[in-house]
Amino acid sequence: MRCVRLTIRGIVQGVGFRPFVYNLAQRLGLRGWVLNDEHGVRVEVEGEEGDIERFLEALRNEAPPLARIEELRAEDRPLQGYPGFEIRKSERAKDRLALISPDIATCDDCLRELFDPRDRRYRYPFINCTNCGPRFTIIRDVPYDRENTTMASFKMCPECLREYHDPANRRFHAQPNACPVCGPRVELLRSDGTRMEVPDPILEAIALLKEGKILAVKGLGGFHLACDPFREEVVSALRSRKYREDKPFALMCKDLDTVSELCFLPEGAKELLLSRERPIVILERRPRVRVAPSVAPGHRTLGVMLPYTPLHHLLFSDGLRCLVMTSGNISDEPIAYRDQEALERLRGIADYFLTHNRPIHMRCDDSVMKVFRGRPLFFRRSRGYVPFPIRLKGARRSVLACGAELKNTFCLTKGEYAFISHHIGDLENFETFRSFEEGIEHFKRLFEVEPEVVAHDLHPDYLSTRYALEQDLPRIGIQHHFAHALSCMAEYGLEGPVLAVVMDGTGFGEDGAVWGCEFLEVDLRGYRRLGHLRYIQMPGGERAIREPWRMAAVYLERATEGQGIPDRFREKGWEVFREAVKRGLNSPPCSSMGRLFDAVSSLLGIRDLVNYEGQAAIELEQIADRRAQGSYPFGISDYIVDPDPVIRAIEGELRKGVSRAVVAMRFHRTVAQMILQIAERARDERGLSEVVLSGGCFQNLLLLELSTELLEGRGFRVFVHRKVPPNDGGISLGQAYYASRVEV
Ligand SMILES: [Zn+2]
Ligand SMILES: [Zn+2]
Ligand SMILES: [Zn+2]
Repeated sequence: MRCVRLTIRGIVQGVGFRPFVYNLAQRLGLRGWVLNDEHGVRVEVEGEEGDIERFLEALRNEAPPLARIEELRAEDRPLQGYPGFEIRKSERAKDRLALISPDIATCDDCLRELFDPRDRRYRYPFINCTNCGPRFTIIRDVPYDRENTTMASFKMCPECLREYHDPANRRFHAQPNACPVCGPRVELLRSDGTRMEVPDPILEAIALLKEGKILAVKGLGGFHLACDPFREEVVSALRSRKYREDKPFALMCKDLDTVSELCFLPEGAKELLLSRERPIVILERRPRVRVAPSVAPGHRTLGVMLPYTPLHHLLFSDGLRCLVMTSGNISDEPIAYRDQEALERLRGIADYFLTHNRPIHMRCDDSVMKVFRGRPLFFRRSRGYVPFPIRLKGARRSVLACGAELKNTFCLTKGEYAFISHHIGDLENFETFRSFEEGIEHFKRLFEVEPEVVAHDLHPDYLSTRYALEQDLPRIGIQHHFAHALSCMAEYGLEGPVLAVVMDGTGFGEDGAVWGCEFLEVDLRGYRRLGHLRYIQMPGGERAIREPWRMAAVYLERATEGQGIPDRFREKGWEVFREAVKRGLNSPPCSSMGRLFDAVSSLLGIRDLVNYEGQAAIELEQIADRRAQGSYPFGISDYIVDPDPVIRAIEGELRKGVSRAVVAMRFHRTVAQMILQIAERARDERGLSEVVLSGGCFQNLLLLELSTELLEGRGFRVFVHRKVPPNDGGISLGQAYYASRVEV
């Protein structure tokens, strides 16, 4: 006989862990108890030695699907002589850390019930259980109990209560448990907010979508705008009402078959689409699919996801197979999630609202991924993943890392856990900044973190930097590209020294220039800037980001001494800018790889002006002919890469009539060659054989693949992002890693 006390940490609350323990103990004839404490779950079991061994094994191997055991400690206790096994009341202690589950797609058991006419939740749009449903977006406070969620105002009916209290039931302690008798309801509103009296709002919504109407649909973390993706007049109407000129719209498909009719499914894509996180996956579209051109102009890819709430599944239950499902906002504002606010903001876009009375507490956008070498690569880490933490190796103090300006996330750390926020967005307007501040307060409360230091970017004008400077805490400023490198190192627990190749659009450099193609030697004490892309002026500063032709012109001017400047650049007023550049007026030097991509994109006549960040580079990647061989020469001296020979070569190729697709491909190969040559030099001279690739340019999978292949071919160990995006969405993790470790 033996008695053991277990302390279990991880995601073990609100995921059916206690009933699982209870049933397991019953099965093995063990006695004792289980309870939730502030760290996770505590168990005491007493019984035969062999049964206890089997119990411990089953804890790890048979845990419920959403549970994630991070740590399991066992200690022997004197025999207690328990009469049986019971679930005890939760304990509250001072120093709490209970992990909170992300929102999870409807599980198969719930789906079966949803479409079973004999089930009491037949076609009930809020069906859920301990294995699925809303979590992060409805939690207002911890502990995770119903009264601390937005379900607090719904009183469970006797039938639901019975399930809730029955340890053998799938809904035992499922906090959002509900049914048609006692739970939330959907309703259909006209755009003026008046309610439509219809027998089945969902069937009515489907009929309206089929007619070509645009509907705002309330989801888990906010409103979507939905419409028929096969009718150009409908999609382009949505586009113009949203003021979203070219950014692609995501699609939601009924099932995997429908996705595979539209897109190719590379290895790993199926698993990702079907995963319980249900992200948007960006996939290459099949030729001649009938999707309206306005869905994703200029793209040979489509962003696709599968239904993840019961309401979504019901929308596809009467003939529809595919819908545009784009975030409910105008242009770059944050996604609308409060009912009244959504009505006001989306009134001019949506013809109708399919909404409901379960409030959303936390706004949370869909996550966006691509598949790289069979495994997921984040473009945006949000719903389904947040707030699950990332392990930070060796962290020794609590940090608030404020992140960057665009695609902002923040990060709070406690012990070795880094809690990265959901996607906050571009901190340019008041709305977004407010949700940044509110988000930080919410995370502090949920995880009871009191940061000891605050980490921030060096850019003085980032709102995230200004926020950091207002905090009454010791501050650590971290250079933007150094933080990119650290974010990738954090994922792997690397301490360096490594060679970090960081390529993005812009970041504040320590010498006052705009940095963006940096070769850094990095360890956890700091970085040494080995070299970078040769500086060039950005004519008109920030404006050059929206007008890639300016970068094309300034590169041509320098590389060909103004020979090959096309007439269309002169017509846009190049002469004026040339003077300004010459005299150093409003033309800051930059080493940005993003701007070089812009320049080439414009040279090839793909994009002279862009409507969203990165558009010119994205279209350059899309057009590249993967089969084309060859690359262009470039200069390199002392880790400074000179792209002027590339510009001259491209200009020559265009004059000879070489196709844009071939030039685009050769340009990609050239950039990969630059990386390789720098890496070889760094290995020879500095002994660096581990290479970290970070920065928004590495969302370009063509560039990522070419670079990784070249480097690995020469024996380098290459590290690419897998847990956070390579773009600025990952910056907060890098800041946190450094600030949690560095001596101050
Ligand atoms: Zn379920
Ligand atoms: Zn009920
Ligand atoms: Zn960046």
